Parts: sequence; C-alpha cells; structure tokens
Amino acid sequence: MCHRSTFLLLYIDPTGGLPPSLWVSILSGLLAALGAAWLALRTFGRQVLLVSSALLRRSARAFVLVAALVAVGLFGLMMMTRFLKDNDAPAGSPAPRVVVLALDGLDPQLLERFMAAGRLPNFSRIHAAGGLKRLATSNPPQSPVAWSSFITATEPGRHGVFDFIKRDPATYAPDLAIADRQHLALPWHGTPFWESTALARLGVTALRMPMAFPPPKLNGRMLAGMGVWDVRGTEGTYIYLSTAPLDLPDARGIILRLEGEPNALRGQIPGPYRSGQTDNVREPFVLDAARDPAVLRLQERSYTLHDGRWSDWVKLEFRFGPLGLQKLRAVTRILLRRASGDVNLYISPLNFDPEAPFYAISHPAGYAGELVKAIGLYHTRGMPFDTAAASDGVLGDQDFLEHCRIVDDESDRMLAFELGRFERGLLFGYFESPDVIQHMFWRGLDPEAEGSAEPAGTDETVARWYERMDALVGRVRAALGGRGALVVISDHGFAPFRTAIHLNSVLRELGFLALQENAPSSEQFFAAVDWSRTRAYAIGFNSIYLNLAGREGKGVVAREQAAALVSEIRRRLEAWALPEDGRKPITRVFPASEIYPSTDRSNAPELVVGYARGYRASWETALGGVPLALSEPNRSKWSGDHCIDPAQVPGIFLATDPALAAPRLSEVGPALERYLANPPR
Ligand SMILES: [Zn+2]
Repeated sequence: MCHRSTFLLLYIDPTGGLPPSLWVSILSGLLAALGAAWLALRTFGRQVLLVSSALLRRSARAFVLVAALVAVGLFGLMMMTRFLKDNDAPAGSPAPRVVVLALDGLDPQLLERFMAAGRLPNFSRIHAAGGLKRLATSNPPQSPVAWSSFITATEPGRHGVFDFIKRDPATYAPDLAIADRQHLALPWHGTPFWESTALARLGVTALRMPMAFPPPKLNGRMLAGMGVWDVRGTEGTYIYLSTAPLDLPDARGIILRLEGEPNALRGQIPGPYRSGQTDNVREPFVLDAARDPAVLRLQERSYTLHDGRWSDWVKLEFRFGPLGLQKLRAVTRILLRRASGDVNLYISPLNFDPEAPFYAISHPAGYAGELVKAIGLYHTRGMPFDTAAASDGVLGDQDFLEHCRIVDDESDRMLAFELGRFERGLLFGYFESPDVIQHMFWRGLDPEAEGSAEPAGTDETVARWYERMDALVGRVRAALGGRGALVVISDHGFAPFRTAIHLNSVLRELGFLALQENAPSSEQFFAAVDWSRTRAYAIGFNSIYLNLAGREGKGVVAREQAAALVSEIRRRLEAWALPEDGRKPITRVFPASEIYPSTDRSNAPELVVGYARGYRASWETALGGVPLALSEPNRSKWSGDHCIDPAQVPGIFLATDPALAAPRLSEVGPALERYLANPPR
C-alpha cells in the first residue's frame, strides 16, 4: 500500500521510477531558473538596488556558488533515490511485479486432461495452489477480437474489432482487421490498460504484443506482434521455387521456377509491393544445387543450404521507388528440398529486418534492434507461423513443426533476456504457437478428424506442445524465484473443426441472399451476388451484415426493417439443420444489439454466429464465396478451430497468487492494475 501524497507520487516518489528524462528536465529547469534569476539581478540590479559593481561581482560569484551547490545537492539526491530504489527491494518492500504468459489458444479441457495424466507438473503445481479457472473470451472468440478486449479492457462494441476480416461497406471487399494499413494506425479504439496509474508508474515490458502495430508509446518497452505485416504488406506470402513445373492453383504463396543447370540455378525473390503499383521489385539469386550442401548466392553473400534443414537467417535489401531511392531490409529463412532429381526452395515470408525495420515495430523504436543484440535475429512478422504453406502442402508436417520450434525459441529467448533485468511492473510474453499447433495438428488428436494422416487419435504433437508450454511455465517461475506473481492466460480454448459451413450458401437457401440469374454459385468477393435481391451476407468467420440502404454500396434494406430482419435471420439460423442428417451446426446467433449494446461502431456486424463444436464457417465464407453446397467435410490439415460459440471455447486463467483473479479476458488488465497498485505484503 502506498501512503505518499499524490504530489509526492507524481514528482519525487523514490520507488516510482520517474523516467531519467524527467529527472533531467527537473534539474535543467531548476538550473535555468537560477540562471535567469542571476541574469535579472545583473541586468536590473544596478537601478533597483543601487549596489556597487564590486558588490554585484561578489553577488554574481555567490549566485554561481549557490547554483553549483544546489545542482550538486540535487544530483546527490537523485543518485541517492536511485540507490534507494535499487536497494529498497530486498529490504522488505520489494517493488511489485507480475509476469503474464499469454499462451494463445491454450484450452482448459486439454490442460486438465494432460495434467490428470501427470504430463504437466508446472501447470499442476499452480493449479494445486490457486486452481485453473475458465476465462470467458470475447464474442466472437477470435484472437484479434479477444486481444483487443484484453488491451482495452472493453468488449468489441467499444474497441471496434469484430472479426479477423472486416469489409468495406461501399464495395463489400474484405480486408484484414488486425492492422489499419490505410492510416498506419492501431486497429482498435480505447485506452490500453497499461496506461492506468500503477502500470504507467511501474512500467511495462511487452514482447510480441498482439494487435499493437504501430507500437504505441508507453512507459517501458514493447515489441509489436500480431498485426505487423511482411515486406509485401500481407500477413505472410511465402515464395516457393522449383525446377519442376508445379500445378498449385490454390496456393497462397508465390510459385516460381528455378531455371538453369544444377550448379547454377537461377531464381528471383519478389520484394515489396503496394496494391495498385507494379509488382516488379525482384532480387535475383543463383543456387549451386550440384554441391552438397548447396550454396545460395544472393547480393554478394553466400549461404550454405543443407537438404531438409532450415537455413540460418538470410539477409537482403530491396531498392525501389523513384530512382530506387527507397531501401528496405528484409530477413528470411530458407528450406531446400531435393527429391527425385528436382530442386525445391521454400523461402519463408519476408520479415522486416528488426535492426532496420521499414516501419517502427517497437517502442522505443530501437528496442527491436536491442533484442537482436540480446538474442540474435528473429521473425518480425506478427503472425510468423506459415500455416498457409503447411496447409498448401508446400511445407511438410516435420518441416513446419521445426519452423514452429524456431519461432517459439525466439519468444523464449526474448522472455529469458527480459526476465534477467525485470525489476518491477508488468512483463508480458506472448506465445502464438499453442494456437497454431492446435489448428494444424488437432487431426492427430481427434479420432473423427477427416484429414488425419496418423492412425486416428494417436498423434502426440499437441500433447508434446502442452509439455513444452509447461516447461516454459517452470522456467519463468524459477526465474521469478518467489518474488512477484506469474499469471498464465489464453484468449480462447479449442475445438475440432470437422465440418465447414458455407454460411452464404445457407443464407441463400433461406432466402436472404440471391445470386445473379443462372449463376449456380459464386466465387469469393461475392462475384455473382445479386445485391438488389440480397438482404444479408456473411464475411469473416462469425459475422453477418445486413445489406443496409445508405450504408452498403448496393444496400436495399431500410433501417426501419432492420430489427425485424435480424430477428428473422436469427430464428431461421438457430433452427437450421443439415439436410443430410439433421445435425444442427449453429447453437446460437447473437444480435449485435444484445452483445454490443453500447456500440457506436458503424463497422459492427448485425449478427454474430456461434457454431457448435466440430463446425466452423468455411474459408469460402470468410472471403464472400457462395458455393453450391451448404457444407462440406473438412479434410484440411487445419483441423482444430475456435471461431465458434464463445461458451464452448473459454480460455484459461492461472495465477501463482490467488489474490489475482479475473472472470473474463477484458477484466485481466484491470486485475493486474489493482494487484500492482496494492501488492500483497
Ligand atoms: Zn487461432
């Protein structure tokens, strides 16, 4: 408990850790005032005081002496308070501190299952002391929505992030909601919880903070995570080159040819590109694949590539813009695979070089580079796991897993580095890997998964990743050494994804969406939708919007009809069953007026769809496709998901100190603030 007056707290709180810059300002202010007083006396002293010039010289000398003494005294006081601050801690009133491990997607049911099997000793220890609690997630339970709720301590109706994907109402075109590329601004509205009193005073260090690009100013350090794009301005576009002609029409990366003799294969790496401009920035390379290991020559550097082993970091620089004056530095990792006479080269999506990022990706801007000095180069893409390449089959399971380990190790080393100098306030470490591993390897856990390659339900990948997270929890706890609390949270849980629902096709079946005459189905972006006869459409993973007159480009629904239409869609969807077997994929449909009662966000969907476990919106739905079928079995490697009814996928909350508790994700920040403001004795 702090008994100092507000004034003291604000200005000379010895434990408060005023930033050094503030001390310098105070000191220089005082010196400036003294100097001004001396100058005034020198200028006006003659007339006003009528003192002799000898006396004035003496006064001047006296003033300089006094000023010097005051300065020395203040400096001494500053050093003393710093000394006290540093040495205060072990003497019985340690500075409060909390580590938050944010393990994206860690599921309470699986955690309980693996704890019961004795596989997670560190989680079990915290569970025994304080208990594993379900943490209510956001609605919809999608990471961008959930982490925005965590950051702003509000629900989506306030912060304005409603789905991974948002749309431009004028054109119905989808865009990612995890970053505001157009304005280079934060994607949410509101005030982050770390701006509250105790956190702002004690300071915050946050590693790979999701939804924090561009990184906001704060008292501390922050490396932005989810939301930082790749060099091409996408979430991550891989490049795949092969000597074989490849037929991958649905590939989400760039597929190119390697040409020439085996000892001098030539290829190009596509560089930065902005939509509307010519995509012609390329860097050529030469690969000598006749040797073992192969040698890649790029921009006067040579890199050794071992077959089937991830390369070390490969650095490159692009020049573009008028006269090639703009420079952009990138880093990537490459995987070479030689099979049956062909050479295949996977180049992972190009990251901004953290030592010279094109945009600031940290606060302070130099922090990203400081981390490089501490732990080496790392992925700067906000979502660095290339699930697209794994789904496309360009990366095999083992190659993808190794890639996950590499990215996860970076987060690990960043956290260990910061733990080594962590004294007070909040240290936040974000790990996306549990989410990604469950998305991609749930099929190994699920006996009913369609795409399971292993004998059903026997794969250990997910269980082993939980063990890996358990070891991380153990290391952090050991580093804290009993001083300060550890909180482990996840933003949502997980569920199987066995059946994909083409929600726009369902809306069509129910008469809310219409296609142009003779069109049996529609490609993505609502290509064949007849907007004049369409009253509602789905885009993203849980959102339905009305085709509202005056808001949508070709809107037809009058505002006064909206409420009745929302009720009708809700009723019909909640009653809707799959025609082939009568199963009901949708548990609840939430009208925005109920879950976002206070919303002032014009981009909010009118309805949020909650699926039952086992179901999810199809990929086609997310981008405005209207296939012929209403549903289809999910045979993709992407076999687990959480974009369903939020009641089905709560996250977790675990704390080493039972005084720390929060029932919902949006209340974790305020709980941390309360705890740090009044730390237990
Ligand atoms: Zn996820």
